Amino acid sequence: MTHQPALPTLAAADPEVAGLVEDEAKRQHEKIRLIASENYVSQAVLEATGTVLTNKYSEGYAGKRYYEGQQLIDQVETLAVERAKSVFGAAHANVQPYSGSPANLAAYLAFAKPGDKVLGMALPAGGHLTHGWSVSATGKWFEPVRYGVRKETGRVDLDEVRELALQHRPKLIFAGGTAIPRTIDFPAFAEIAREVDAVLVADIAHIAGLIAGGAHPSPVGHAPVITTTTHKTLRGPRGAMILSDEEHAKAIDKAVFPGLQGGPHNHTTAAIAVALGEAAKPEFREYAHAIVANAVALGEALSERGFELVSGGTDNHLLLVDLTSKQVGGKPAAQALDRAGIELNYNTVPFDPRKPFDPSGIRLGTSAITTRGLTPEHQPQIAEWIDRTVTAAATGDEATITGIAAEIRELLSAYPIPGYSA
Ligand SMILES: *Cc1c(COP(=O)(O)O)cnc(C)c1O
Repeated sequence: MTHQPALPTLAAADPEVAGLVEDEAKRQHEKIRLIASENYVSQAVLEATGTVLTNKYSEGYAGKRYYEGQQLIDQVETLAVERAKSVFGAAHANVQPYSGSPANLAAYLAFAKPGDKVLGMALPAGGHLTHGWSVSATGKWFEPVRYGVRKETGRVDLDEVRELALQHRPKLIFAGGTAIPRTIDFPAFAEIAREVDAVLVADIAHIAGLIAGGAHPSPVGHAPVITTTTHKTLRGPRGAMILSDEEHAKAIDKAVFPGLQGGPHNHTTAAIAVALGEAAKPEFREYAHAIVANAVALGEALSERGFELVSGGTDNHLLLVDLTSKQVGGKPAAQALDRAGIELNYNTVPFDPRKPFDPSGIRLGTSAITTRGLTPEHQPQIAEWIDRTVTAAATGDEATITGIAAEIRELLSAYPIPGYSA
């Protein structure tokens, strides 16, 4: 088993780096990846990422560049832009942001000034750092106002969003986050934004693939500006895009370049085009719905074992589990699960009484295991492994954890990942 595409030249030129890449491919193959923000890209996406397009500078946009020799780069970027518009039904697409965080910064630069108020979801409630959290530039340079979720339901409190919007009149309102297990009500956010004349930014980084595949309602037509990463459920290379209506297109483009960035990463742009080509296929619709079916099945199996799910379940790819009832913290549980062959991350839960570095919960997502071909029938077994590992972690039973890692390797040997095979 080796990395695919094979790396013979790298292995000869730099065995140290090649060895680490090979070991990482093996590690990815042998673990059940439940990190909600991760996936496995196709070999076609991997190949596009590793091309000579990385050699080219192309500041500007297709047809308006500052360097010569753009005959083919312009075509690559135009292809990515047109595919993005078509997959999401958007009027405009910018595929140049280096990643999700700079994409969000572009929205600030386009529509707000330092010191302006911005309304976003609080990080501990499920928001992202770039929605105005204090340690982020977005929280230092703007004046953040934060909404959360209702204690009883674990769902976004739209009454609170509206009250805060009316009280503070923010320039920007962010809808979306990193730990939201439920459908985001874009029309409701749009109504609030209209009422206070704010620009609504739908940050669909986590759910872009579900939206592309019709497994989550689209913000297009509700949010004039939509930011997303390309590497989470959308299953593309690490990168980002901003979709917008015609009215906001120019400001977005100017904010990305020359506002924030220099030359776009053309090898990434090519890989984004490939991923969007995959997302336009009927199989991707099946994939998106299968992700949700797996998450629902995993949630039910965990609930049956006494795990407490924030909001009681999921509508998307993501589960947030409060481990308080299992008498183990999120961090020791996540570390034990990693030793057992299940990768995920510890996470704060809403109203978490514990500290962010040692919170009460874990976050799970099913986009990667769905790519591997695992189905709802596998979820009771995964829940059983999680349950046994968490119990073993609480009692310090390392032998059980080692045994589970072997069982997991055995199952996964039949489900290879793209990027690693014979
Ligand atoms: C992942 C994520 C981002 C940031 O993406 P990076 O590529 O890690 O910078 C922004 N917003 C949300 C909601 C995310 O989940």
